[in-house]
Amino acid sequence: MSEYSAMSKINWLNSTFLIATPILAIIGVIFHYSYFGSPGFTELFVFLFLYFACGLSITVGYHRLFSHRSHEASWPLVLFYAIFGAGAFQNSIIEWCSDHRKHHKYTDGEDDPYSASRGFWYSHMGWIMVEEENFQNDFSNVNDLKQSKIIMWQHRNIFLIGAISGIIFPLAIGYVIGGIGTAIGCLVWGGIVRIVFVHHGTFLINSAAHIWGRQPYSQENTSRDSFWLAFLTFGEGYHNFHHTFQADYRNGHKWYHVDPSKWWIKCFNLVGLKSNLKSTPKHSIEIAKINVKFKKSKNKLIKNEIDLNELEDDFKNKRDSLRTCLYELHKAKKELKNSIEQSKIQIKARINEIKQSYAQLKIEIKAIFKEMESRFSSGITA
Ligand SMILES: [Zn+2]
Ligand SMILES: [Zn+2]
Repeated sequence: MSEYSAMSKINWLNSTFLIATPILAIIGVIFHYSYFGSPGFTELFVFLFLYFACGLSITVGYHRLFSHRSHEASWPLVLFYAIFGAGAFQNSIIEWCSDHRKHHKYTDGEDDPYSASRGFWYSHMGWIMVEEENFQNDFSNVNDLKQSKIIMWQHRNIFLIGAISGIIFPLAIGYVIGGIGTAIGCLVWGGIVRIVFVHHGTFLINSAAHIWGRQPYSQENTSRDSFWLAFLTFGEGYHNFHHTFQADYRNGHKWYHVDPSKWWIKCFNLVGLKSNLKSTPKHSIEIAKINVKFKKSKNKLIKNEIDLNELEDDFKNKRDSLRTCLYELHKAKKELKNSIEQSKIQIKARINEIKQSYAQLKIEIKAIFKEMESRFSSGITA
């Protein structure tokens, strides 16, 4: 018996819910189809509305806003996340964020509630189905959230709010629009099927996003970036970026990265319902990527007993110069924005100079990587 299982017992409520919902979803779809035919426009609309409302309440609300404080939101949005987050049936904001902050603090370790080091199924949903002594929550890591009346109201009434927004709401809308058949259709599609979809989208971030994908920003833990997961999870699949820069309101930092949660935050920022969006400066991201690339090449050489010689020091010097360069560029661009017309020409000239040095350093760093690659291919041994 492992040290973990010795301390765990089954959480019957959670286990029943997690096993019953997919079974009920399949039975419900077959039952509704057999008695009332294919789902219509109302069912589709209610499904999509609740899929987005509940899904985004988890990714934007529970995750990026409440767990990470990556931005600020006005109270109507906080209320929206509290109501539809409850309808996602992933517990209260307080409980979810407490677990999630632990996940970031102790990633992959014993105190990580859904540590990927314990295998796919444990990190996917097993951790919800067991109760472990060392994860009895005192919520002391979410004291900031306890200050919010909406969050505490949600915590006290989590099951009632969830039942209303996630079950009764689709049922009632269906009944009002199309009677009993549409009510059952909306309950099945907008309620149960949607719960399963949103559940497993979130769960995949704890399991798959710690197993499959690339690690361009950090190799400090198992988190990974994956486009297809981002596509299924409102942008949360860029998980390696998120673990490296967790205060960032984006998970996909490039404009073309599929990150609907980021777009949602940006849209509400434009209309004044969100503010203080935190984003990682470009130079920090670029340096992180270069560091990882160097580490990967270095490990490859060391593994094959190939000598690095002067390359490591050379790389470090150039990388530090690049960092300074990018920082100076960032500063100069800011200065340009706030400067008066007369000094603009001077600042622009300085920016051009910095850009030239930056381009030169990039060429030199590229040459170091090329040299490492050629040493690897020709196998110069120490
Ligand atoms: Zn997070
Ligand atoms: Zn993670």
